[in-house]
Order: sequence, then structure tokens, then C-alpha cells
Amino acid sequence: SHAPRPAAPREVRLVSRPVGWPTHDDFELVASEVPELAEGQVRVRNVVMSVDPYMRGRMSAATSYAAPYELGEAMQGGAVGVVEESRADGITVGDHVLHGLGWREVAVLDGSAVRVVDVTAAPASAYLGILGMTGLTAYAGLTRVAALQEGDTVFVSGAAGAVGGAVGQVARALGASRVIGSAGTPEKVRHVVEDLGFDAAFNYKDGPVSAQLREAAPDGIDVYFDNVGGEHLEAAIGSLRLHGRVAVCGMISVYNDTEPAPGPRNLARLIQTRGRIEGFLVGDHYDLAREYAGKAAGWLADGTISLRETSVDGIEHAVDAFLGVLRGENTGKMVVGL
Ligand code: NDP
Repeated sequence: SHAPRPAAPREVRLVSRPVGWPTHDDFELVASEVPELAEGQVRVRNVVMSVDPYMRGRMSAATSYAAPYELGEAMQGGAVGVVEESRADGITVGDHVLHGLGWREVAVLDGSAVRVVDVTAAPASAYLGILGMTGLTAYAGLTRVAALQEGDTVFVSGAAGAVGGAVGQVARALGASRVIGSAGTPEKVRHVVEDLGFDAAFNYKDGPVSAQLREAAPDGIDVYFDNVGGEHLEAAIGSLRLHGRVAVCGMISVYNDTEPAPGPRNLARLIQTRGRIEGFLVGDHYDLAREYAGKAAGWLADGTISLRETSVDGIEHAVDAFLGVLRGENTGKMVVGL
């Protein structure tokens, strides 16, 4: 007569705004209040959630490119879960859905805020990475922002990370002649070359980026896909060829800075190279999502791109997983299994 009561679902709240590097004291793991469903809503038990560098920006009060997280409330982010109860048309109990209410074990959302995904075609976590926002970031940045041409030499930083690994593999699939990456450990450098098929890679902690890049790309680069900013950006400008393009995707090297960081000292090279530097947000390129999803499915199936992720289990370790991304503890997409 006493059915076991399921443990109350939990969520991670932001309780103070970090200055510099976030710490555990900035977060709290607490029981969620899960409301009854209104007409049109679904209740989802999350199975995997994303932790991403952009979330650091949302922890600060100043609006980055996404609205700040509210203090004392659960944070948000990409997640995939199983529908436990549905009052929404077209969504059935047992469906796997992609949505934006991660950082909690159970989420209640409008049916219009979730998308059913096929977890027989790919693991649920792939929809947070290579088949989702991460992959589209690589594709849009390369095709639209960097205007990738066949035969280009492409350099990408953060090459062993989620976006960077996708950039190298997608660039190759789209006809780049030479793909070079940088990453922060010898294992990552090996992974990028041996598992992801980059032509060359180097550890940016081994010496000046400019010298290492010149060695890897003696004839220069046509495209730089920037994930880190700082010294990397200056080095890439220094190696830019005629009509070179820089797609500025991220600058993780400055996300925890408390003072503005100096910019590249060699911008004048853009004149002789007729070079172009352009920032972008994946959110502006969702019109490419269907085109990309079709190509990515094919590339995954035929092995052109491979799936690599680092996975941490349990919502009680989600903050560690997030901090781990900022510290470089991940190879491929960092996800948290719930
Ligand atoms: P990653 O999986 O690449 O993880 C971040 C990586 O950054 C770490 O693994 C670490 O690897 C590297 N890193 C950390 N600090 C530094 C540093 N000081 N210098 C160089 N590398 C560093 O994360 P994502 O793939 O999710 O994101 C990559 C970048 O793309 C981020 O800058 C992110 O903000 C940006 N982004 C932008 C989007 C947009 O719409 N513009 C959308 C999605 C992501 P290592 O061991 O090599 O140092």
C-alpha cells in the first residue's frame, strides 16, 4: 500500500553573480516546485543537459548576448528529456524532446517550446552537440561568416572542444584543403589529428601561438574560426592571406576577466590582406538548421564527422561540469547525464 515516493526533483539556482571565476558558492542545488500542468503543457524528466561557455555571460548582470540569469531561480540551458505527462497536442508520453530548461531534473514547458527528437537515430546528447546548436554554430560560422571556399586553409582554436572539433571536420567535408587546430593539452592535440583528421595541431601552452601557427601553416591561412580570442586572434591576423576571413565565434580566454583585455596589435594587416573580421551569433542562423541537419546526419552516418563528448553524471555535478568547460577539462561536447 506504500508505493515508494520518488525523490523530489532538484534544480541548480544561481544565488550570487560571480566576479571573475565562478565558484560553488555562487550556486545552490535545491528541490524544485513542479506545478500541475496547464492545458497545452508537458512535464519532462530531463535525461541530459548542456553546459556551455556562454552561460558564464548570463551569470553576470550586464546583458551579454543572452539575458542574465535571475538570482534565486533555476538557470536555463539546452536539455533533452522524456515526456512524463502531456496536455499538448502532438506530444506523447515517452517522446524525447529538446528544450531550453536544463539545470533541473524535471521541467514543465509549453508544447510549443519543445521539439521531439529521434533518439533511435542518434543519442539524446547529440542534439545538444553535433546535431544541435554546436554543430550549427560550426556550419553557419564556416559557410556564412567565413564564406569558406574549396581549397581554403582553415585554422580553428579550441579545436578539441565541441564547436572547434565540429569546425575542423565540417571544414574538411566542405572542401578545405588544410585544417589546423590548437588546443591546451598533448592528448587533445593527438585527438584532433588522429581522431578528427586535422592535418596539423599544436598545444598553445607550448610556446607563442604566432610561431606555432607559422610552422603549421607556412603559407598562411584563409580562414580563422576564433573560439578563444586574445593571443590566438593576433596570431591568426598575422598569418592571414589575401582576402582572409576571421569568424569570431567566441573569446573564452576573456570570459572571466574583470578588466577589458587588450586587442590585437596588428589590425593594420587587414589593409594589405583586404582581410575581414566578423562576429556572429548562431541564433541568427537557424534558417540553416534544416539544411545542416540533413548534411550532418549524412556525415555522421558515413563517418565524415565523429561524435566525441565528455559526460558527467548527476545534477549534483553540473556546476563542476560547467567549471570544467571553462578550465578545459572536456574533449568534445561537455554534457551532464541526469
Ligand atoms: P568547448 O567545448 O570548446 O569548451 C571550451 C574550451 O575552451 C575548453 O575545453 C578549453 O580547451 C578552451 N579554453 C578555455 N580557456 C581557454 C584559454 N584561455 N585559451 C584557449 N582556450 C581555452 O566549448 P564550446 O564548443 O561550447 O564553445 C567554444 C566557443 O564558442 C566558446 O568561446 C563559446 O562561447 C563559443 N560559442 C559561440 C556561439 C555563438 O553563437 N557565437 C555558439 C556556441 C559557442 P583547452 O584545453 O584547449 O584550453
